[in-house]
Amino acid sequence: MKQSATFIPTLRETPADAEVRSHQLLLRAGFIRQNTSGIYSFLPLGKRVLDKVEKIIREEMENADSVEVFLPAMQQAELWQETGRWYSYGEELMRLKDRNGREFALGATHEEVITDLLRDEIKSYKKLPLNLYQIQSKFRDEKRPRFGLLRGREFLMKDAYSFHATTESLDETYDVMMQAYKNIFSRLGLDFRMVIADSGAIGGKDNHEFMVLSEIGEDTIAYSDKSSYAANIEMAQVNVDYKIPTEAAEELEKVATPDQKTITQVAEFLGTDAEHCIKTLIFKADEEFIVVLSRGDHEINDVKVKHAADAKLVEMATPEEVKQLIGCEIGSIGPVALPEDIRVFADNALQTIVNGIAGANEEGQHYKNVTPGHDFQVEKYADLRFIKEGDPSPDGEGTIKFAEGIEVGHIFKLGTRYSEDMKATILNDQGRAVPYIMGCYGIGVSRVVAAVAEQFNDENGFTWPQVVAPYDIHLVPISVKDDVQRETAEEIYKLLKSNGFEVLIDDRNERAGVKFTDADLIGLPVRITVGKKAAEGILEVKIRNTGEMFEWKKEELLQNLQ
Ligand code: ATP
Ligand code: MG
Ligand code: MG
Ligand code: MG
Repeated sequence: MKQSATFIPTLRETPADAEVRSHQLLLRAGFIRQNTSGIYSFLPLGKRVLDKVEKIIREEMENADSVEVFLPAMQQAELWQETGRWYSYGEELMRLKDRNGREFALGATHEEVITDLLRDEIKSYKKLPLNLYQIQSKFRDEKRPRFGLLRGREFLMKDAYSFHATTESLDETYDVMMQAYKNIFSRLGLDFRMVIADSGAIGGKDNHEFMVLSEIGEDTIAYSDKSSYAANIEMAQVNVDYKIPTEAAEELEKVATPDQKTITQVAEFLGTDAEHCIKTLIFKADEEFIVVLSRGDHEINDVKVKHAADAKLVEMATPEEVKQLIGCEIGSIGPVALPEDIRVFADNALQTIVNGIAGANEEGQHYKNVTPGHDFQVEKYADLRFIKEGDPSPDGEGTIKFAEGIEVGHIFKLGTRYSEDMKATILNDQGRAVPYIMGCYGIGVSRVVAAVAEQFNDENGFTWPQVVAPYDIHLVPISVKDDVQRETAEEIYKLLKSNGFEVLIDDRNERAGVKFTDADLIGLPVRITVGKKAAEGILEVKIRNTGEMFEWKKEELLQNLQ
């Protein structure tokens, strides 16, 4: 490609609002442009990196027997209502109405749509397993879109969904997909770690994230320095399905003063404001109450809400409404969790409620120890919030270290979470109608571009690994007005292209300094300079990531590039 014919608007200055390296450089090197907050255009170079990331993902998906489809981004509200997520997903879900007032969501994820598709088509266990994927724009109205492509409001995701008749079959596919993910991130050259994403109700072995290690990562990983144990601290507390035992609850009722139960205290503990804590979604289904507490800045899409579809929802419940519904004071959050028939599903909140009630402090005292005699049976609950660096770890090997990570992938055993609500059943080998067993597998494709960008750069610009570099070679004739240089460059350009190299030729009439600065910024793996020595058939070659320089004869070029 001729540089004069493409569109690479490089910038000399670092844009003021770009905080992290990948964002700064993607803007400066002319790979992306921001349209509005969290929404980006990919320019030609950015698109080529994206395509290469997608190619690797597609190859590994096909190897894992996952087949590509393309699902609608615009999704009718009814599907999301069937699973209850229309209510529980919160403000992150972009909603809109058509001209007739019918409600829609812009796909934040596609479990509903794909379950709906298959429930009408697949009726027999003989057609399973089936594993489908797509690469498509997702829409999430993130509270804090930031760091460029790392947290967008419109972004590209590869999402796969697998369907099974048995849990053994899901286990098998899950393992295959886990390996595919390892292959993808290894091929991309990323320094990553697979971590347990959840050790609550769903069980750690069924839910993993892939974290690119980076100090700008928004997740904190606790890992063992001796074993392969690694878990996401935040996620370790998500999806906790925990019921306070009656005796403990009664005891608690006696010891906890009203003061210890105030919502403000809980809010303080969470480091958020009380309003977010009160943003408590309360479902009443039959005689059972389900309380979903959201910290407010964490979506609660994964919360399993029983009977959510026919539940009565009170969003942003006022203390009065809560009192009416459950017959106890709010302002004291404690009693909400106390009666036997009330179940608490919480992200960070459960730990907090219990701590709030029992009076644990932020120094990390475990509530088990705070109020002697009160054991809340928390075996299932990995209490990572209070883990400190240097602690022994959870699997008995080594000590805990912390690292920051960027979540680039997430695989999850969904079980029958969606198929039950959506009545998506197959006839099993005994002729009985049973819900599909499902898995889902996501990769943030555009986030991966930024993660690679974050890991591969130096003070002058990108140092793209060859597998994702927009071109293999930057061919730079120093003076396009010089006949020998121009003709040599054209000759080399043809030679390289006919030998399968992707080449960007800087045919602009610019000063050498400008060309070199841009070449370093863009960061193609190899730069070939055609300068004065072209007359003697000599080319100057620079390897971008090591800075090594060579003088090669024209005839040696192909051989040396191998
Ligand atoms: P996060 O914790 O960063 O908000 P998530 O857990 O909400 O991510 P998932 O629902 O697991 O995201 O989606 C699958 C993948 O999509 C994530 O692992 C991540 O790589 C990517 N992703 C999620 N949100 C965004 C976003 N706002 N911008 C870019 N990529 C995203
Ligand atoms: Mg999210
Ligand atoms: Mg996450
Ligand atoms: Mg996730």
